[in-house]
Amino acid sequence: MLEFARAGSAVAATSATLEKTRTLGAYFRTLDDDDLRRAAVYMSGRAFPPSQRRTLGLGWSTLSKVVSSVSRRDEDELGRIFRKHSDLGDWAGEALDGSTLPAPVTLGEIEATLEAIRTARGNAKAAPLEAMVRRLDAESARFFIKIISGEMRIGLSEGLVEAAIAEAFGVPITQVKRVHLVTGDIGETAVRCKRGEFEAGTVTLFQPVRFMLASPVETPGEAFTRMGAGTVWTEEKYDGVRCQLHRQASRIELFSRDLKETTGAFPELVDAAPAIGHDVLFDGEVLAHRDGRVLRFFELQRRLGRKKVEEDLRRDVPVVLVIFDLLWLDGRTLIDEPLTTRRKLLEGLGLEHPFLLARLEEATDPEHLDRIFKETRERGNEGLMVKDPLSPYTPGRRGLAWLKLKRPLATLDVVVTAVEWGHGKRRGVLSDYTFAVRDTGSGKLVNVGKAYSGLTDAEIAEFTRRFLEMTTEDQGYRRMVRPEVVLEVAFDSIQHSARHLSGFALRFPRIVRIRDDKPVDEIDTLERVAELYDRYFGEKSEVALSEVAET
Ligand code: AMP
Repeated sequence: MLEFARAGSAVAATSATLEKTRTLGAYFRTLDDDDLRRAAVYMSGRAFPPSQRRTLGLGWSTLSKVVSSVSRRDEDELGRIFRKHSDLGDWAGEALDGSTLPAPVTLGEIEATLEAIRTARGNAKAAPLEAMVRRLDAESARFFIKIISGEMRIGLSEGLVEAAIAEAFGVPITQVKRVHLVTGDIGETAVRCKRGEFEAGTVTLFQPVRFMLASPVETPGEAFTRMGAGTVWTEEKYDGVRCQLHRQASRIELFSRDLKETTGAFPELVDAAPAIGHDVLFDGEVLAHRDGRVLRFFELQRRLGRKKVEEDLRRDVPVVLVIFDLLWLDGRTLIDEPLTTRRKLLEGLGLEHPFLLARLEEATDPEHLDRIFKETRERGNEGLMVKDPLSPYTPGRRGLAWLKLKRPLATLDVVVTAVEWGHGKRRGVLSDYTFAVRDTGSGKLVNVGKAYSGLTDAEIAEFTRRFLEMTTEDQGYRRMVRPEVVLEVAFDSIQHSARHLSGFALRFPRIVRIRDDKPVDEIDTLERVAELYDRYFGEKSEVALSEVAET
């Protein structure tokens, strides 16, 4: 531990990143595999590798009691020392200086202590902590407490730890990063780089692999140009939540897009996994699915974030896993194999409900791709994934091997309830349209916005004639009209709004189509607006969560 602390201090002492990586690299070189694994994790400010999903559960009060008891300093004094540093480790280092009986401590013993603290309950956590602190010199205690507090604060990012691993073992930094993406564990990365084990970045079951991501494209033509492939594969872009399933014999674990374990949320997948008959690591999308139909995301939302799922919810909103990739099969890592191979193996598994395969189609040119894209949208899907059939699976990367072709967020079919005279160029015509959706609760129409754009002059002239005839109340600048004209509007986002009775307002709405083919009783509902709001713009929206997860 003393060597660890000395290396940490030396890293802290310089602000030059090159010097930091050199110092840390030199320290890493002195360690055997086990200590290297530990040191790399601890230097990144973690008590446990993230893949173990463990937390210490140690609070400030236990820590300060222990430091107070060992140092025989009272609260005021400890508070004064803390204010000097504003860092738990530095505080403990100074507070404990001179009051311990230092003895050599190995990183293995540190690990055992952290584990003992983790598994002890409540007040019992103090005993292993105190026993260790009593054996540490001030510098080691300083670093031990830094590990416990989850922050090193010595100017060392995970990127610099990667650089130090590269430096220590003469491995290109890109290679280190690649191994790290696969293992998701800096300790394991260090050991593999030391041993030179880069081959097909082996996946370890039950250690979540970072998900491969897709880059957005606007048009089928752009998809072909960016991918630079003669033939592309397309898959439906399913609107659910990303999920990785690891299965070995009777052990099954699921992970979400941010690599959190979500096994408890989807018991039907866990129950069905033993029937797969192979040990596997699947990448796919969980969807709510009942009687052969995909349910809306709104329904799936009820299933998310749960540790346990009650029977009736499971019955109301059953889920399936639509699988689109196979990363590991019966001991064999497949991420460096082309997608064609992975898909073939996947198809060979003979999967059954609730495991489905993503719908795959090949496109040979942009026109073909455009046709598939249109069909997919007609089926009500969010968009299309375009994949290079020869590409490997690149964990954590948003490259050009996977592209996503999306339609604009969503449109709503609304009815015009009031119209206003325009200004400037639009003077003399009724060009501003207030529109509403239906509140199914009350049966009433409630306004959600006002659109000014999207129509041609000829259309506006025609509408002016129509609205003059449909006027139910002339308020001068504005006319209330019979709610008969249905429009399809696109928009950028939805906000809560006190201005409208509906409680919502669409931002930047634009008219994309006049829906004379659509009767007013088929327009969209307030419920749908609320659902889109929750899904995409609310505080707890999926979009917001995934943005966080990707960083
Ligand atoms: P986005 O969230 O817009 O970045 O789109 C990427 C997400 O689409 C992935 O993280 C998956 O959750 C989801 N997705 C749906 N269908 C597929 C598919 N066939 N292949 C890959 N990702 C998919």
